[in-house]
Amino acid sequence: MGDLAPYAVSDINSNGRALVEPRPKARSEFQRDRDRIVHSTAFRRLEYKTQVFVNHEGDLFRTRLTHSIEVAQIARSIARALRLNDDLTEAIALAHDLGHTPFGHAGQDALNECMQGHGGFEHNLQSLRIVDRLEERYGAFDGLNLMFETREGILKHCSPSRARELGELGRRFLEGRQPSLEAQICNLADEIAYNNHDVDDGLRSGLLTLEQLEQVSLFSRHAAEADAEFPRLSTRRRVHETVRRMIDAQVTDLLAESARRISATAPGTLADVHAATPLIAFTDAMRAENRALKIFLRDHLYQHFQVLRMTSKARRIICDLFGAFVADPRLLPPQYQEMAASESVPRATADYIAGMTDRYSTKEYRRLFAVGEM
Ligand code: MG
Repeated sequence: MGDLAPYAVSDINSNGRALVEPRPKARSEFQRDRDRIVHSTAFRRLEYKTQVFVNHEGDLFRTRLTHSIEVAQIARSIARALRLNDDLTEAIALAHDLGHTPFGHAGQDALNECMQGHGGFEHNLQSLRIVDRLEERYGAFDGLNLMFETREGILKHCSPSRARELGELGRRFLEGRQPSLEAQICNLADEIAYNNHDVDDGLRSGLLTLEQLEQVSLFSRHAAEADAEFPRLSTRRRVHETVRRMIDAQVTDLLAESARRISATAPGTLADVHAATPLIAFTDAMRAENRALKIFLRDHLYQHFQVLRMTSKARRIICDLFGAFVADPRLLPPQYQEMAASESVPRATADYIAGMTDRYSTKEYRRLFAVGEM
């Protein structure tokens, strides 16, 4: 891990675990968190959960698992260059999507609609619920008993009313304080990862064309650079040479702007980081280019009719499953019936559905609704 900046999170300045445990023998506390996340059930399920493309549409597209690994790669590089805690950064990055429903944002929106009047559904809170409570692996506690700063990094957003229920962890949302720089890095590494891999997957799927992407300055600028260096590349290599330059430009910009802000603010301790404005950031110019890319992806990829067909099917699957379980909770597997008894039927149903992979939820839908299927 090398020499950490004084304002980095460390085993020493951490708020620690909710349940105190003996220190790990050959690892740091945050390496242990990372390892617990990698060994969790929710982490393995990320392989069969998707963001834009459903898993069965092709073997080459990103899943939430490969997405999380890409985020971890980008985030670690940034953390190390800024002398921050790259073990914590990696732990947050690998855990950041654990609470996602099947079928990406379509699934989350559908489940949130079903949960109106029952406390709503939000994937950040669900990621926290998984690591705090739902993973059943240890004798001494529910969940993974992670370090405070790992949990803080997982909880990216939170409404004020929810924040009040979360005690110490929610307090920063009420007091307008920033999370650690490691958490701030993961947030932007997530954005870098998905914007760029959605370009790549969009082209690979044929839903986006190179001609369309020429309208996006971040793409066209780097495609021109790739063409100047390698004039006769195949399309596949040209796309990769362009996308790698886009990622590099974003990371380089982020590093330079963040280093500038850190040196201007000169935090001495972690407490100074919490009290400052966000110190991990793009330049205004890069933020504008990123925004243009995001708008392009929304208009041309996320709202492509073929993606919307999937979205509409996902919504139906999630809503029908939810309706069936809430109408007759005896259809839930036993551990969720127990959860229903201790919390509520809708919350237990949301936990069950959110934990499903794309293909499991499709199978469950068939088991419940298809005639001739058991
Ligand atoms: Mg993500």
